[in-house]
Amino acid sequence: KFFCSMDYLKGLNESQYEAVTSLQGPLMVLAGAGSGKTRVLTMRIAHLIHNGIDPFNILALTFTNKAAREMKERIAKVVGDSNARSLWMGTFHSVFARILRIEAHYLGYPSNFTIYDQQDALNVIKKVLKDMNIDADLYKPKKVQARISTYKNNLITVKAYFNNPELMEADEKANMKFIGQIYQRYVEQCFKNGSMDFDDLLLKTNELLTRFPEVLAKYQDRFRYIMVDEYQDTNHSQYLIVKALASKFENICVVGDDAQSIYSFRGANIYNILNFKKDYPDAITVSLEQNYRSTQNIVNAANVVIAKNLQQFKKNVFSDNEEGDKIKIYRSLSDADEANFVAGNIWELRNRDQRKYSDFAILYRTNSQTRAFEDALRRKNIPYKVYGGLSFYQRKEVKDLIGYLRLLINENDSEALMRIINYPTRGIGETTQNKLIVFADAQNLPVAKVLDNLPIYAPQLGLNNGVLNKLNDFWSMIKAFQVLLKTETAYSVAMEVAKRSGLIKFLKDDQTPEGISRVENVQELMNSMQGFIEEQMQLEDGDPSLSNFLENIALSADTQDKNLEDDMVSLMTIHLSKGLEFPVVHLVGLEENLFPSFMSSATREDLEEERRLFYVALTRAEKQVFFSYAVSRFQWGKITDAEPSRFLSEIDDEYIEFLNPALEKRFINNSGVRSNIFDEHPSEGKSFKKVEKKTLNREDNSKPAPEARKLKPVSTAKIINPSGASSQDIEVGD
Ligand code: ATP
Ligand code: MG
Repeated sequence: KFFCSMDYLKGLNESQYEAVTSLQGPLMVLAGAGSGKTRVLTMRIAHLIHNGIDPFNILALTFTNKAAREMKERIAKVVGDSNARSLWMGTFHSVFARILRIEAHYLGYPSNFTIYDQQDALNVIKKVLKDMNIDADLYKPKKVQARISTYKNNLITVKAYFNNPELMEADEKANMKFIGQIYQRYVEQCFKNGSMDFDDLLLKTNELLTRFPEVLAKYQDRFRYIMVDEYQDTNHSQYLIVKALASKFENICVVGDDAQSIYSFRGANIYNILNFKKDYPDAITVSLEQNYRSTQNIVNAANVVIAKNLQQFKKNVFSDNEEGDKIKIYRSLSDADEANFVAGNIWELRNRDQRKYSDFAILYRTNSQTRAFEDALRRKNIPYKVYGGLSFYQRKEVKDLIGYLRLLINENDSEALMRIINYPTRGIGETTQNKLIVFADAQNLPVAKVLDNLPIYAPQLGLNNGVLNKLNDFWSMIKAFQVLLKTETAYSVAMEVAKRSGLIKFLKDDQTPEGISRVENVQELMNSMQGFIEEQMQLEDGDPSLSNFLENIALSADTQDKNLEDDMVSLMTIHLSKGLEFPVVHLVGLEENLFPSFMSSATREDLEEERRLFYVALTRAEKQVFFSYAVSRFQWGKITDAEPSRFLSEIDDEYIEFLNPALEKRFINNSGVRSNIFDEHPSEGKSFKKVEKKTLNREDNSKPAPEARKLKPVSTAKIINPSGASSQDIEVGD
C-alpha cells in the first residue's frame, strides 16, 4: 500500500536529509563505512517517487544483485510494490545485459546471445591458445584473461590495441607479445559463438551508446535519474556509461567511500570520484560522519587502521552507539584449530546471547580457506552458507545440463555444444570432435552449421558411417528439444533434456555419496527453474522463458541466497562482503602472506589496497569482532609456518584483547613493544621469525623495502592468488 506520510525522512540525520531531499542535479556522497550511504540512496529513490517522478525513469546501479533486491524491498515499503517494481535496479552487468538484449541487432549480435561467465570465457581462451599453438605455461590462461579484461574495461578494442604501439611494446617487454593476436582470436571466437563475456556487457554498451546516438538519446530520456552505489569501485567502462547516460539531465547521484575501494585489481578506478567534481563542477557534495552500524570500539579501531594509508581523503567517522566489546584475538596452532575455535565460538555465543546463526559471518581473504570452516561447522551441526566460491551454478553436473539448455537457445554457442556433444558418452570421441572443430574453423562456420549439413560435409570430414550416424542422432535430438521449446515451458523442456539426453541415468549409475549429491544438484537446478518461472509469472513484465532463466543464472553468482530467511552462518570473502553488515564477524587467517596476501606486500599501493580490504572487513561488524590466525597452516599438501598479519599490530592496544591468556600476559609484559607480542609462545616450543617494527612499517616508506619479498620462500607465490581474489570472488553482478 502506498504510504503518503513522509515518515521515512524522520529517521535521517541532517546531512542524510540533505542528500535525500536534493533531487535535482549532480550529487556525491563521500563517506565512511556504515554512515548510511546505501540508506540515503534507497530513501532518495523513495523520495523521488514520492515526489511524482515515474519509477520508470529511475536507474539505480548497485554492486551486487543482493543489494539491489534488498533496496527494492525497502523502497516497496515506502512507495508500494508496483512502484518499486518498475524501477531499473541492479548491477551494471545485469542492467546493461538487459539493454543489450533489446538492442543487440545494432551490434550484429543475436538477441539470444549467450553470456559467458569467467569459467566459460577461460575455456575459450584455452582453446584459442591451443589453436594458436601457444604454450599455456608461458601464457597462463588466467593471466591472459586478466590482460584482455583490462583492455576491455579501458575500452581498448582489438583495433585500438593494434593502433597503440606503446601497449604492444609493453606486452612485448612483458614477454607477452602474442597478446594482441590472442585477444583478436578470442574476440572473433566469442562473436562467432554469439556470446559476450562480462566485460563485453560494459564494452558493448559503450559501443552502443557512442555509435548510435538515437539509442543513447532513448536511454538518456528514459533514465532521467541515475544513482550509483559503491561508486569507488566502478571501472572506466562503467564510468563512461554513467557519464553518457547522465549527460542530458545531469540528475546523477553517486555514493561511495574511497577507503573501501578494493577492486583495483579488476580495473576499479578511484579517480572516478575525483573526476566527478570535474565533470560536474556544480555538484553538491555531502559527507556523512556518523556510523550507525558499529560500536564505538569497532569504529575507532577501523579509523586507526585506515589512517595508516597515505592515499585517502581524510574523514572523520564516529559512532554514538555503545562502546562495545573489545576486538578479540585468537591465536591457533593450525588452520583446523582455528576453524574449531570459530565454530565453537559461534555455537557458544548463539546460546549465550540468544543469537541467530544468521547473525554470524566468517570472512576470509581467499576462497580456498573455506574448507576447514565448512568441516568444523558441519561437525557441530551448524547450518552455513558459502557465498561465491564455486557457486552452485558452476558445478560440473549443473553446468552440463545448462550446457544443453544454452545450446537450445543459441545453437551457435560452440562452447556449450562441445561440452555436451559426448556427454554422457555417446561414441563421439575426441578425434571426431577435433575433426569437427578444425573443419568448422577452416570453413569459418559454427559447429552447428556443420552438423546441420552433415551429409554435404561428410566426405570432407573424413568420418565413417558409424560416427556420422551418432552425430546425426545427437543433432536430431537437439533439434527435437528446440521444437519442444516452442510449445512447452522451460521447466518441462529441461526435464525432457535431463532424461532423454541420458544425463540423469548417467549420474544415477554412480551410487557413491558424491554421485548421489550430483543427482540432487541437478534436481536443485530444476527446482530453482521452477521457482524462477513461478516468480516471473507473478510479475507484470515477467519473462519465464528459458533464455531469461539462463541470463539470470549467468549473472547471479551472488544470488544463491534465494531464501533470505534461512538461518545460517555466512561464509564469504571480504570482497563479497562489501556493503553488508553482521552483528558478529569472525575475520580469519590473519597471517602474513595470506592477509596481506603474498603478492600484495611488495608495493605500497598494493598494500594499501589490502589495508582497505581489512578496513572493509572490520566495518562489517555491528557488535563483536573476532580475529584469528594460525601459526601453521596446511596448504597445498604441506604444513607451512605462518606469522601473524601486520594488520593486527596496527590496531591500538586499547581496542583489542587476547583470548589466549598466556599470550595476553606476554603482551602485557611487553607493553609498548608491539612488534614482540606475536613472538613465539614459550609453552608451544615453536618459533617463528620476529616481525621487526621496521618491517612492519615498510609500506609507509615511499619505496618498497626489498626484503618484502624475502619473507617467504618463493614457492609460496603459488599459494596465494596474485589478484587475491579468484575469479569466483568476482561478484558476478559485477
Ligand atoms: P557501507 O560503506 O558499508 O556500504 P553505508 O554507508 O552504505 O555502509 P548503510 O548500510 O546505509 O551504510 O547503513 C549502515 C547501517 O546504519 C544500516 O543498518 C542502516 O540502517 C543504519 N543507519 C543509517 N543511517 C541511520 C540513521 N540515520 N538512523 C539509524 N540508523 C541508520
Ligand atoms: Mg553501502
